[in-house]
Amino acid sequence: MREASESVVVGIDNGGTKNNATILDASGQFLTGRMYEIPSRVTEGPQAAIEAMTEAMEVVLRAAGIAREQVAAVGLDTPGPASADGVISSRGATNFARPEWWNFDVRGALEARIGLPVVYNNDGNAAALYAHHTHFGADAAGRSSVSAVVGTGLGGGVIEAGGVIRGAAGQAGELGHIRIPMDGLLADDQPIPMCNCGLLGDVESIASLTGIAKNLLPYWLTQYPDHPLAAIPLAEAAKAVRTHGEAGDELALALFEQQAAALGRLFSIAANFTDPSAYFVGGGVVEAAPHFRDWFLERVRALTVLREEQAAVAEFALVPDLDMAGARGSAFAALAFLAESAATGR
Ligand SMILES: [Zn+2]
Repeated sequence: MREASESVVVGIDNGGTKNNATILDASGQFLTGRMYEIPSRVTEGPQAAIEAMTEAMEVVLRAAGIAREQVAAVGLDTPGPASADGVISSRGATNFARPEWWNFDVRGALEARIGLPVVYNNDGNAAALYAHHTHFGADAAGRSSVSAVVGTGLGGGVIEAGGVIRGAAGQAGELGHIRIPMDGLLADDQPIPMCNCGLLGDVESIASLTGIAKNLLPYWLTQYPDHPLAAIPLAEAAKAVRTHGEAGDELALALFEQQAAALGRLFSIAANFTDPSAYFVGGGVVEAAPHFRDWFLERVRALTVLREEQAAVAEFALVPDLDMAGARGSAFAALAFLAESAATGR
């Protein structure tokens, strides 16, 4: 038997174009300071993609001088939708469009390829795990949290006692598609935003890059027709709006105020649901100038309705190091799996 102190886990974050990988030792220390990015080859189909994940693991092990024999488990995350066990949706997914991917067991396939236990999470849940463990450290197992990550869509997850709430079908924590009340959030003449999922007025229809391009910016440009963002294509303007927000631009602040309100309303629902110890906000805003980042988080906090007892204990914080969140969160999941296996003697 190998000494527990010698064994490590590897975390692999699978994305549309690249995989990131990292190594975590049994004491919870990361052995890789920088990111390793390897092409993910998901557009070539499952076989190429599984090889690319294997290569990501080997690259990071070589770089850290760790022998493959020391790896006790691997954590993997991919974009969803997928089941709790890592079976890609029967209807495919944005990143897994080819028919070979439909119903494909990506977790099982990687496990068979590398001969090690593989623990699966979707990317939102992996980021939520990372935020939780980084924020709470040694206290992680005793705390709960909800994370909302504002990206192309709205990702995130729900953590209870240090572990991800997965749900019966693996679809818990789909926070973006929770409908929230629109009264007082939208301007009087503002159309109710529609999400790509088809719902009207869910969180993602406002708090996402897609929501900015599709819903918020088209409306706010009618209020500020001479704004410089009106002169460039919408998709570009949606990405540029944060820079204007950092500069205190009125249109941009009105738009981000609505995003903060959407997150506040989501967190108000969470407060009545799992009453978490912490509320985390991640996404592009984390990379924004500190004064803007802090303003946004403060607006989310102010617009979250908590009871007095909850407000006294709840923390609001940003998800740090977003680029590494998936790989690192997946590694935490693999380490938790080992601890659980040791405790149950399996
Ligand atoms: Zn939706």
